[in-house]
This record gives sequence, structure tokens and C-alpha cells, in this order.
Amino acid sequence: MFKAEQCTVCGECLTWCPYMEMSEEEARREFRKLIDGESTPVAAQCVSCMGCDEICPERANPFSLIIQRQEEQGEFNRFPEAKARMELAYSLPSEVRPGAPGGPVIDLCTVSPMTHWLFDGALFEGATFLMGGDYYCGIGFYHVGLSSPVEAHAAAVVDRVARTGAREVVCYHDDCYTLYKAMAPEFGIDVPFEPISWPEFLYRRMKALEDRIRPLNRPVAYQRPCASRYTPEKDPFVDRLFELIGAPKPARSYEGENAFCCGGGIVPRDYELSNRIKHQNLKDARDAGAEIMVTLCPMCFMNLKKRAPQHGLALAPISDLCRAALGEIEIG
Ligand code: SF4
Ligand code: SF4
Repeated sequence: MFKAEQCTVCGECLTWCPYMEMSEEEARREFRKLIDGESTPVAAQCVSCMGCDEICPERANPFSLIIQRQEEQGEFNRFPEAKARMELAYSLPSEVRPGAPGGPVIDLCTVSPMTHWLFDGALFEGATFLMGGDYYCGIGFYHVGLSSPVEAHAAAVVDRVARTGAREVVCYHDDCYTLYKAMAPEFGIDVPFEPISWPEFLYRRMKALEDRIRPLNRPVAYQRPCASRYTPEKDPFVDRLFELIGAPKPARSYEGENAFCCGGGIVPRDYELSNRIKHQNLKDARDAGAEIMVTLCPMCFMNLKKRAPQHGLALAPISDLCRAALGEIEIG
């Protein structure tokens, strides 16, 4: 939610934005137009990386205002196919695949078919999986300029997950973690289970399997997903996990607050810009000495999987990095 009372109209959010060129004066002027509900090119140019919410020195949540204006100005009409796919996701077949009593309950949202081979081995022993449209968080709508469907469905999604009776629910998709941890409370929805982020889950499991870890001793870059801008408290688990499995993270330009979008959210808006960002991001990782790039979000994995090898990088979901450290699989 945009916090108008905290905003000083300094324009820093828009001058910082890596996807549009704006002077300080222009940024202040265009942000004022956003506040006043006037037409501004920001609505068309914002690629929904969510980064400015993290950058704003006043914690005023500028992206929340931008997405509101995008929706009011019908920005979503530019992406009818993507919007239709997201609407359809709510009605995809759903399933609870039971594991062992006391095992982790893992919410796979609707994204697990993209990376269906992942959920094997010691990390997932005894796990119960929730999957399909009943558990669709809908955060993807933010990438087509719509936020209202997320709020409209949030209470029902939380309720369906709560009905499993799990006290802790592990979120495979960073978007789901963001819905349960950050957005649902902001919508006034009570979340009667504790959402656990994917890096925290993996860290806990790897810690329990510590005596089986063979340090990787390979430099690894991390692709931070957009939803992590809402839930940066999980990021230390990424660092602890890397340390635990012996994967040094080379310092590079596009990480932390300066992380680049994977390019997926940009594709429908500006294909050339998406390609340029992917190239800069992967080159930066390789130039910093990384051999592998790991993704947290399955969408980032899908968006980078063709391009990463062209830059001499093996691309792996973060759980596969753990499995490699357990000797279950090899990476690149
Ligand atoms: S949202 Fe934050 S960064 Fe943007 S103009 Fe307001 S105070 Fe400045
Ligand atoms: S969400 Fe990202 S792309 Fe949109 S204005 Fe903020 S920083 Fe720029």
C-alpha cells in the first residue's frame, strides 16, 4: 500500500529505476503526476521489478502506487494473453500429495510443472505437496499491471492452505511467501500458519544433513527474484546456505538492492530491453568469476536457462545446488 503521508516527492525511486532514464526534476514531476492520478509515461515504462519499494528512503512503497495507476489506466490491456493465462491458473486442477506425518508441508503453487524434476532426494523425504490452482498466489498479475485480482483471491488462497492444518508451510515460489508473509497481513487477512521461505527451508534441511555435505568449492552467483523486494528478511538464509555448502558468492554489481530483474517481467513490454538486461546481468556474474548462477524463483530459472550457458554459466535452481552438495546430482 502506498504511504502518501510518508512520501516527500523526492523522485529518488524513479531516478534509481534501472529501466527508465529520468533526471531528478523529471522524476519529481512524474511522481507528482502519479500521486495526482494524471497520465504519465511511468505507467507504461515500469517493468514491475518492485525494486523502488526497497529503495525509497521513506518506505512509502512507490511501486504500490505505480501498479494502482497501471491498473486504472488499463495497462493490462497490452498483455491480453499473459493476463488470460494468469486468470486460468486459478482453475488448474489441484492436489494435496500426502507425505509422512510430521514431514514438511510444501506449497508448490502452480509453478511446479516447470521444474517437476526437482523434488527428489533427501531434501524432500516425507514432504507433503500442495499444488494447483487452489494454491495459486497470483502475484504474477503484478507483471501485467494488475493488483486487484491478488487481493480479491488472497483470503480464499490463505484459507485453503490453512485447511491443511499445517502450522508451518514452506513456500517453493517466492511469490507465495510474499503473499502470505507480507501482502496478506497488509490486506488485513489473518494468516494462521507460519510461512517458511525456500532458502530457510533449504538451510534447515541442509543443516540437518550437514555430515553428508561435500563442499562445492565453486563460485556461485545468485539471481534475486522480484518478490524478495517485499521480503528481504529471507536473504541472510541464502548467504548462510552458500556458506554451509561451500559455495563462495563473488561480489558483483547486480546483487542485493541493485539486483537486476531476470528479464521475464520485461519481455511482454520491451523485448530488446529484456535481452539487454539479461546480457548485462549474466555477463556481470561471469566477469565476477561465477561458474554457476542459481535461481530462487522458477520463473527466473525459465527466463535465464537458454541465455546463461551462452555466457559460460551453468544455471541451477537453488535446491539443485544443495543436491549437488549432497552428491545426489552434478551441475554443469
Ligand atoms: S515514494 Fe519514496 S522515493 Fe519515491 S518520491 Fe516518494 S519518498 Fe521519494
Ligand atoms: S518497480 Fe522497478 S521498473 Fe517499476 S518504477 Fe520501480 S524500479 Fe522502476
